[in-house]
Parts: sequence; structure tokens; C-alpha cells
Amino acid sequence: MGIHPGDWHWGARRYRRWIEQYIAYPEVPQDLREQAGMAPRYDFRNYPGIQHRFEEIPAMFEEGKTMGLEHFFIAGWNRQGFDNNYPEYYPDMELGTVEDLAAGCRYINEHGGMATFYINARIFDVESDYYPTLGVQWALKDEKGRQFQEVYEPKTFAVMCPAYVGWQKRIIDYATWMARCFGAGGIYLDQVGSAEPHVCYDPVHRHSHHGMFNHGYLEILRTARERIQKINPRAFLMIENCGDIYGSYVFGSLTWNGTLYDEFFNMYKVHLPALHPGKHGQPAADRRPAHQRSLFSQRPGAGDAPGERLLGGDRGPVPP
Ligand SMILES: [Zn+2]
Repeated sequence: MGIHPGDWHWGARRYRRWIEQYIAYPEVPQDLREQAGMAPRYDFRNYPGIQHRFEEIPAMFEEGKTMGLEHFFIAGWNRQGFDNNYPEYYPDMELGTVEDLAAGCRYINEHGGMATFYINARIFDVESDYYPTLGVQWALKDEKGRQFQEVYEPKTFAVMCPAYVGWQKRIIDYATWMARCFGAGGIYLDQVGSAEPHVCYDPVHRHSHHGMFNHGYLEILRTARERIQKINPRAFLMIENCGDIYGSYVFGSLTWNGTLYDEFFNMYKVHLPALHPGKHGQPAADRRPAHQRSLFSQRPGAGDAPGERLLGGDRGPVPP
């Protein structure tokens, strides 16, 4: 705490001096650091239907390239699609075959792009066949053994314990598998920097303390990054929103939640600029390519402003 004559920049500089004792800045290749945006495609299988299939990935990638977007972000690719059946991160059968998905990623990698895969690192669909066994075992439990649940319409999910090795291994191994078998250059872990932490008192988890939530995610980030970079030295992790203790291990952050959640994003960028939070745009939702191109060229920072989703439409079916 201190008294100062100016605005929050004074506090941000002071905070930076303190936190730099405890964190390291990530080493990001210069060409990745210069990436100006990415195309988040949530429009494969997104409740309630299918908009695109794996065989369309090359054309979808080329569409983004016309707007200068070489970073292709794949969400809704998993069994039953976006926000469904988590954490069953296996290619949805109605979107194509595993080889269709691998071929799409290969096309991106061979044409000057990179593919990042979405997985959610926090929640388990309570309607999953595996919830009564694995989900219940991995879930956070409060001091009375109760679970924490979150609803993303129309589905309900239980929050998993990131400090439990069972959940850690599952997320780390998914990331490793995607990098190895699908050529994923990036792995995006949803909710890690945005959703609130909880205590966990489950004795079966055997973590050293009930408040190991953030330490658990640090372990996931550290190990997952190490594993994927053994496969591809340029591979990287991204998380939703930003967190300074996580920043040493991530290449970029997705900030799109609006002012209720992203209000501190500019402060984060000022006090820790080297952590390089990412930006994003959605080429498919806006049917006016010329308008999209002008947004990207005239307002290069537009996608990273707090609460500003450059082109929108990434949480539901593409409007007609
Ligand atoms: Zn636990």
C-alpha cells in the first residue's frame, strides 16, 4: 500500500517490481510475438448443430488468411461439440474422421499457419457417461464434501480439482496427444485465467493443502508446455483471460468476456507487457470481408481492448 499523486500507473509499476521477483517472462519466438490476431472458430459443432466439418478446415483457414489471420483456433471439435461432454476430447464422429482433422491441421502447418486446439481445463459434464466414476472422483469438494457446479446453458458441469494428479494428468496428456497426433501448434486451456478458484478438502486427492488450486494449474501449465515443446519447440499454451502467475508459461490470453470480466486487462498489459496477451478475431461471423479487413488494418489493437470482441459470434451458430 502506498500514497501517490498520480493514477493507477504508479501502482502498476510498483506491482511489477514486486512480482518480477517471483515470475519469469516467457520466451516467445519473434515471429509468434508479432502475430496480430487469430481466427477463433467455434463454429464446427456448437449447440445445437453443425456448421462446419473437418474437411472444410483448409478453406476456412484460407478465409482467415485473406484477413491476415494465420492462427487458426479450433473449438467445438470434440465429441458432441462446444460445451458438451467435457472432458471427452475426442474428434466428433459427425464432423469427420481423425484423419480428416489431422489432414486439416497439416494443411494449415504446410501453408504458413498454425493451429490451436481448444480444451476446457476446468469442468466435467455431469451427463457424461464417465461422470459417476471419473468426474466425481476428480471434482473439487468443499469442507462438507459438496461439489461446485457451473451451468453453461443447457448443460451443467462440475468443477474439477486442478491440484489432483488424476485431473492434471488427463489435461496434460490431452495436450500432448493433440500436439503429437494432430500437429497442434498451440493448446488453449479454457477458463484457467478467468474462472474463480475454490478450496478442495477431498482427502483422496492427497494434495498438501486445501488451497492448492492455483498451484495445481501451475503444475498443469508447466508440465503441458514442457511436453508439447519436446514435440515441437515452437508449441505454446494459451489460456482464457490473464493471470500473472500463469503468464510465464503461456503465449497468449483470450480476453473477450466483456467489461464484467476483462476490466483489468489494460492494467495487466501495462504492468506486465512482456507477457504478451493475445488478440482474436472471428472471420466467419461477419459476412462483410471488406469491413473485417478494414477493422484489422485500421485498428490493429482493436481485438485486445477490454470487453471488445472484434467480430463476435463465437459462442453460437453463425447468424444467416
Ligand atoms: Zn482436490
